[in-house]
Formats: sequence, structure tokens, C-alpha cells
Amino acid sequence: MTKRPVHSIAVASGKGGTGKTLLATNLAAKISRDMPVVLADLDVEEPNTSVFMADPPKTTTDQYKLIPEWDQGKCVLCDVCTTVCRFHAIVKLGEMIVVFKELCHSCYACSELCPEQALPMKEHKIGTISTWQKDNFTLVESRLEVGEEQAVPMIHLAQQHLSDQYQKTPLHIYDCPPGTSCPMVASVKEVDEVILVTEPTPFGLNDLKLAVETMRLMEKPFGVVINRYGIGDTAVEEYCEKEKIPILARVRFDREIASLYSRGEMVFDKIDHFAEALSEIQTRLGLNL
Ligand code: SF4
Ligand code: SF4
Repeated sequence: MTKRPVHSIAVASGKGGTGKTLLATNLAAKISRDMPVVLADLDVEEPNTSVFMADPPKTTTDQYKLIPEWDQGKCVLCDVCTTVCRFHAIVKLGEMIVVFKELCHSCYACSELCPEQALPMKEHKIGTISTWQKDNFTLVESRLEVGEEQAVPMIHLAQQHLSDQYQKTPLHIYDCPPGTSCPMVASVKEVDEVILVTEPTPFGLNDLKLAVETMRLMEKPFGVVINRYGIGDTAVEEYCEKEKIPILARVRFDREIASLYSRGEMVFDKIDHFAEALSEIQTRLGLNL
């Protein structure tokens, strides 16, 4: 883990259910007692950080991507659009031009090269961004519209929103989508540091290895937090030691943590050993003021 000042930290995990959101929310809330923090929920398919907020959001804005819309009246079926689309998002079916919005990357190529202006770009809603504000703590939740299949464009819109609206907030913490596929990669791409949350079980180790491989391919500085420490075995610790991966903290297994979390309550101000684990992470990341 680097010693340089941290501006953005991603909290990620190789699989769901490891305690990633518990850690991200509590870490952000704890640090916000000393400095302004933005917590961004980038798990757009299943955002759940807002369960900790008692009030409704301060703002909710619809988010759109631009998709070409076929104008049958102008089209001469010349095939230029289907040839230029490198994402295979537009095809000719008989005498119709069909756009597959899930595959469209909004690159404008077909729209701009259509000789008949038969493919104007139109807004298509893909989700919402909601914000909450409480003292030094800001929550930005990005949520994909039901039925939309592509998480990455929504993550990019949320990142743009964060960079437009919160560039003066000194610390951003991102709660990332679980797994190691495109949404997770898109979420951690621009951050300074990554915290990989895992648990000391064979499943935890297996998914941690995949997440570590991804971080190394992306050349991201990262460390590991072992959640539910005390259950399972020592294989995760042995793996981290062998691979020279820093363990930022061990969060002891405690049923009371799960109980508080399930009631939508913050944990760090009620359970001392949990707060100590967060302090350890702060120290390791240079976030102690
Ligand atoms: S490029 Fe324009 S005119 Fe040609 S097939 Fe596509 S929509 Fe029709
Ligand atoms: S905007 Fe780009 S990605 Fe979308 S259909 Fe047109 S050429 Fe393909």
C-alpha cells in the first residue's frame, strides 16, 4: 500500500456477502467525524448503502445515455450504419434497421455517418443518482433502471457526477459491485487505493485470489481486510503472507455486528473492536488526522 495521500478508495470484494458495504459505510461515516467524505454506492444493480440514511434523498436525478433512433421515413437502407458499428449494435433485418440499445456504446458513428440523417441520437433513461447530506457525510447512490442490463454506463455516469460535483471533497470512498467482471473493473479504474474485503473461508480465499489477480493486472495498490475473523481457517492469512499482500485489518466475528447492520444501524460507534479495526485501516491508509 502506498504512503501517498489518498483521495479515492474503492471497497471491493471477489464475491458478494463478505461485508463490503458494512465496511464502506462505517469507514466513511467514522472518517466524516473529522473531515468531509463522499461515500458513493457504485453497486448500481443492487445499491444498499442508503438503508443507513433515515431521511429521504436530498436530490434524485434521472440519468440517460444517448442511443440512435431509426427514422424509417428517411432511411434508404444503404447499410453504412451496420458496417460502421464496431459493437454490432445495429443490424439490418429485411427492410428494417434495428438498434440493440444494450450493445450500443453511444459512439455516434452511425448517427454521424448516416447519409440521410436517419439515426438521430435520442436520450434513453438508464437509472438515477440520489444524494443525501448529513454534516460532513455525503452519500451518492447510483441505481440502474429495472430492466436495464448494462451496469458500466451507469457507473460511468456516477463517476462523472462525482468528479463534477465533489472534486473539492478531500476523500471519496466507493462501495463497488462484487465480483471481478466489468462493473467492478470500471468502479476501481480511477481510484488511488483498493480495499479487498474477504472472509476466512475456502470460498473467501478462492474469490480473493481472483480479485487479487484483477488488481495486479490493473496495477492498483491494494490491501486486504479479513471480515468475520475467527470463523473458518487461516488459509487467507497464509495466502496474503505468501503473496506479500498487506492485511489492513481483521474484523472479529461478532453476531452483534450482523444484528446492528440488519437493523440499518452504524456499527463503529457501538462496538469498540469494530471501531479499532476501522482505525487500523485509517492508519494503514494514512487517513488518521
Ligand atoms: S446509414 Fe442511414 S440510410 Fe443507411 S441504412 Fe443506416 S439508417 Fe438507413
Ligand atoms: S452509436 Fe455507435 S455503438 Fe451505438 S449503434 Fe451507433 S455505431 Fe453502434
